[in-house]
Amino acid sequence: MIFLHYVSGGCTFIEAIFEDNDLKTSKRLEGVGVEISNRNPLVFFNKEYSDIHPDIIGLVCLAIFYPFIGSDVTFPQPITPKLAESINRDIFLKHKKLNIRNVSQDLIPYLGEQGEVLAFGGGMDSSAIRALFPEAFVVHEASIKNGILVADDANELTASLESKGRGSLVETNSRFISNPGGWHVWIGSIVTALLEAGKRRAKYIYAGTILGSAFMSNGAKYFDRHASSKWHGPSGNYWQQLFWDIGLPLVQPLMGCSEILTMQASLKYLNKNEISYCTADNGKACGVCPKCFRRSCIENYVTGEQIDFSRFDNNAVNLILNKNLFILDTYTQHLFHLDGRPQVLLEIDWHFYLKTILSV
Ligand SMILES: [Zn+2]
Repeated sequence: MIFLHYVSGGCTFIEAIFEDNDLKTSKRLEGVGVEISNRNPLVFFNKEYSDIHPDIIGLVCLAIFYPFIGSDVTFPQPITPKLAESINRDIFLKHKKLNIRNVSQDLIPYLGEQGEVLAFGGGMDSSAIRALFPEAFVVHEASIKNGILVADDANELTASLESKGRGSLVETNSRFISNPGGWHVWIGSIVTALLEAGKRRAKYIYAGTILGSAFMSNGAKYFDRHASSKWHGPSGNYWQQLFWDIGLPLVQPLMGCSEILTMQASLKYLNKNEISYCTADNGKACGVCPKCFRRSCIENYVTGEQIDFSRFDNNAVNLILNKNLFILDTYTQHLFHLDGRPQVLLEIDWHFYLKTILSV
């Protein structure tokens, strides 16, 4: 695959030229590995990103197109040997070995000068980082799907931060270049932050990974991240390690925090409706889905405020509760264990309940 990077008319473009052994159809590297087919080799960003370190541009190319690359890569500009080695770390070889055609022994690695950039998703976790690190420059991706802006509450919020010089709202189609849409690798959600960090010469990128995803496989089992750093690299995750190796570490300040803690930290923004946990209702929280249910449960636990749970008495939420041996009686506001024992919402076995909601 040959990559081009160019800036024109105030926009930045990353173009992938497919070669004979590249793949038009591949699998997403997240979740169950859904089959994806590329329908657009041209990615745009509505901001100018020129004079960005070649390793950063190289990492952007990988984050977007990695599953479709066959075996050979030519980046827009030669990259450092360090990035080339990191992409071929042993653990990457389970996917493929990449022959990188343009590596420069003379290229000086990226060196951040000042500040941090927050890869802002708009949800509870990245809002907690905003609360904890108010000096971080906020970058949010405004997704464009088939030429149309995808509704998202966080767009408006970030646009207002941008007008104060504290953020950047970046429109891009990078999330929707394949069928079905979605990021192909989890670091796909960081590309706009990467570009902004490169432009601003930032030292770090913050992202909102929390305890559940960093160490608990989202509630399924404990993941020994420290032990796994032997083969993932010191950061504990081989994709994250790419950021470290190019000199722009992706830092996850909430790795040790549960959702209860991030909820507590983000309440200051929650009250101002600056958090969009779910965007199912035309960019706003729908208030009825399992995601909203989960957030309401945690909010109820943290604030102690009475929440009307009757709106969650629907198939999608009950399915999850039933799966975990609970049913929700919206009339009495009790959770019933299926053995018939009624349990008041806040008096149930919290560990068991957390497991229930973490599985949503
Ligand atoms: Zn919802």
